[in-house]
Amino acid sequence: MTELTDFQRALAALLPETELRFREPMSRHTSLRIGGGAEVMAFPKTREELAELLKTSVLLDRKPAILGAGTNVLAPDGGIPGLVICLKDCLDGMEDLGSHRIRAMAGVTMARCAVFAANLGLSGLEFAHGIPGTVGGGVYMNAGAYGGQMADVVELVELMDRAGNIRSLPAEGMGFSYRHSRLEDTGEIVTSVVFRLTPKPAQEIKTRMKELIAKRTASQPLDLPSAGSAFKRPEGGYAAALIEQAGLKGFRVGGAAISEKHAGFAVNLGGATAKDMRSLLQRVSDQVLACSGIRLEPEIRIW
Ligand SMILES: Cc1cc2nc3c(=O)[nH]c(=O)nc-3n(C[C@H](O)[C@H](O)[C@H](O)COP(=O)(O)OP(=O)(O)OC[C@H]3O[C@@H](n4cnc5c(N)ncnc54)[C@H](O)[C@@H]3O)c2cc1C
Repeated sequence: MTELTDFQRALAALLPETELRFREPMSRHTSLRIGGGAEVMAFPKTREELAELLKTSVLLDRKPAILGAGTNVLAPDGGIPGLVICLKDCLDGMEDLGSHRIRAMAGVTMARCAVFAANLGLSGLEFAHGIPGTVGGGVYMNAGAYGGQMADVVELVELMDRAGNIRSLPAEGMGFSYRHSRLEDTGEIVTSVVFRLTPKPAQEIKTRMKELIAKRTASQPLDLPSAGSAFKRPEGGYAAALIEQAGLKGFRVGGAAISEKHAGFAVNLGGATAKDMRSLLQRVSDQVLACSGIRLEPEIRIW
């Protein structure tokens, strides 16, 4: 058994009630199935527990990384020194607020949230049903698909700053743009979200969700680990088309490859390392630049 680090010992002593795992493999918590051990991974079940974790991190002079479902993160092979706070299924719960509004905690998956809304006969989250992340990660990324995006349905976001203080911001204050929110700059953490939706018969909503899932299954490599679209959509074009035109469908570096099914996806064929994946993304971006003059920017968050 390896000795505990000072940081692991200190956190365990200061937060005896919080679920902490030491050297927890990031590959277990990312959809790419890549990444070495986090020195400490914490699973806070309440806002209060999250606030205590943040305050303790300040005390111990560490800045924790925040993880939702890990469906847009490439974690390093060598692991993560310090603390990763995992919110998926931890900050949990949804409620019907009436007047076509629902509240979801940040760790609820977008799929569960969309089904909850559908069962209430509330439309607007159909686009999010097939996006595998959490509500918090969806707001951070302003996730979107098939003509919808979080910015269109978010009314209010409850945020916690790194000192554990909570405040609520209306959607207009979130700085939403394409796959971006202000959170990338501020480091604030989403704790819950209020969605403003539109009434519609539940059956119609569910039929639309099924259609969108069928579209995804037909066009995306859902049988292989990925983080969804590897690159942001460049102005005036599509990343997948540019990658295909550059002859890179199936291009491989180690265990990482551009999907044969959808050139916008970078997949883990088995045993891919973060180094393979970073090198693949860089080489694809360079090759596309050489062929088209357009520089592709990764959509995947590279930690
Ligand atoms: C098969 C597949 C299909 C996908 N399809 C789509 C799609 O159609 N559209 C789309 O937009 N994306 C898509 N994605 C990407 C991904 O699901 C989204 O970006 C999603 O919003 C990420 O949520 P997450 O909870 O997994 O966040 P994570 O990957 O865990 O984190 C992403 C970023 O958000 C931050 N973050 C997470 N939670 C919080 C929080 N509570 N507060 C503050 N910051 C937080 C993290 O620190 C990190 O920087 C797809 C991914 C896969 C694997």
